[in-house]
Amino acid sequence: MQFDNTEVAFKHKSNTELKQAKWLFSMFNKPLLVKYGPSATAFALRIGLPLKSMVKNTIFRHFCGGESIDDCGKTADMLHKRGVGSILDYSVEGAEDEKTFEANVKEIERTILEAQKEAKYPFAVFKVTGIARFQLLQRASTGDLSTKENEELNEVKSRIDYLCNAAVENQVRLFIDAEETWIQDIIDDMVFEMMKKYNSSHAWIYNTLQMYRVDRLEYLSKRIAKAKELNIKLGYKLVRGAYMEKERERAKEHGYSDPIQPTKQVTDDNFDAALNMCFDERDLVSICLGTHNEKSSALLASKITEAGLPLHDERFYFAQLFGMSDNISFNLAEKGYNVAKYLPYGPVRAVLPYLGRRAEENSSVAGQVGREMSLIVNELKRRKAL
Ligand SMILES: Cc1cc2nc3c(=O)[nH]c(=O)nc-3n(C[C@H](O)[C@H](O)[C@H](O)COP(=O)(O)OP(=O)(O)OC[C@H]3O[C@@H](n4cnc5c(N)ncnc54)[C@H](O)[C@@H]3O)c2cc1C
Repeated sequence: MQFDNTEVAFKHKSNTELKQAKWLFSMFNKPLLVKYGPSATAFALRIGLPLKSMVKNTIFRHFCGGESIDDCGKTADMLHKRGVGSILDYSVEGAEDEKTFEANVKEIERTILEAQKEAKYPFAVFKVTGIARFQLLQRASTGDLSTKENEELNEVKSRIDYLCNAAVENQVRLFIDAEETWIQDIIDDMVFEMMKKYNSSHAWIYNTLQMYRVDRLEYLSKRIAKAKELNIKLGYKLVRGAYMEKERERAKEHGYSDPIQPTKQVTDDNFDAALNMCFDERDLVSICLGTHNEKSSALLASKITEAGLPLHDERFYFAQLFGMSDNISFNLAEKGYNVAKYLPYGPVRAVLPYLGRRAEENSSVAGQVGREMSLIVNELKRRKAL
């Protein structure tokens, strides 16, 4: 599987759009802008400076589908025409009150209903911290809750059950994202309860496994054994993991052993080992690779082909983020594999933390800036537009 065909990757982009993308990625090369840009923008918007349309026409437009589900429709149609599904990702972050959590549940439910209606949305997704207090999840992960907190946790469980039930009733597959290790145990437990309840004959509920963690392969192996015992199906989104620096810093600060693999290579090997394990157990486990890594994507693509399975076998999906790695998404889709992109949306101000993470990930500091930029430049050169 080759991912260097930039003509396929950028067929949907005009020369002007590609040049705008080139300019945007060149901005991520400015460390001060990447470091302080999102918080300075949030502040400027809060005090009423008219920056919204500037943000909306640049970084927001590149990485987000819009401010509402309706806004996302056109982008999702364009992706769908090219064989790529969209996963509506309501990306508001930061609020920690019950009213916001309830409103978020309703919004996530709307994404599930939209996925039921429209083939262009093959999955729905949510983060547990969008519907629960971080501190509560942290205390629950250490098993240390007061009566009042227990009641609050039961409320969180009801919300999760409500969303899983909505997904299954509407025959929509649902991802639950993975977060920091110190809140992940309770998330894993709650999601496994949902798998027991709803995945009796089909993988509707998918948890996420961060393979940069030293303990995940063993966890996966135990879950497979348990699922065999219970006669249920498993769904897993396999990712490398997004919180490495934070995880290492906290482990150091609190004096416990680093939960993250020692090197990138070990993370890569661990990710591929999980992929192999799930593939070998494919009658039981359905997977989605949430990755921008070409080698891992090629590995799954070749395993599907070598096993003589249909490329669109629903047990195997590939997913990337909107605005990134179009070379992987569209080259896989053109061959006939199942591909989807997370399509984040929400009010501009509320998605700024998400945009900040994309800027950081694509900055020269993280060493990723070359990847997207060189693809864009290659395509502009191929079109003789540079
Ligand atoms: C569709 C989708 C869904 C996602 N959902 C989640 C989610 O629910 N939860 C979540 O945490 N993340 C999620 N991510 C982000 C993901 O975990 C990665 O951070 C991101 O995709 C980059 O990893 P990669 O596999 O694409 O590629 P690569 O660029 O090959 O890998 C980069 C990753 O390798 C790991 N790494 C880098 N350096 C080292 C090192 N020195 N030692 C050990 N490991 C290292 C880190 O995890 C880093 O993010 C998602 C990504 C996608 C595309």
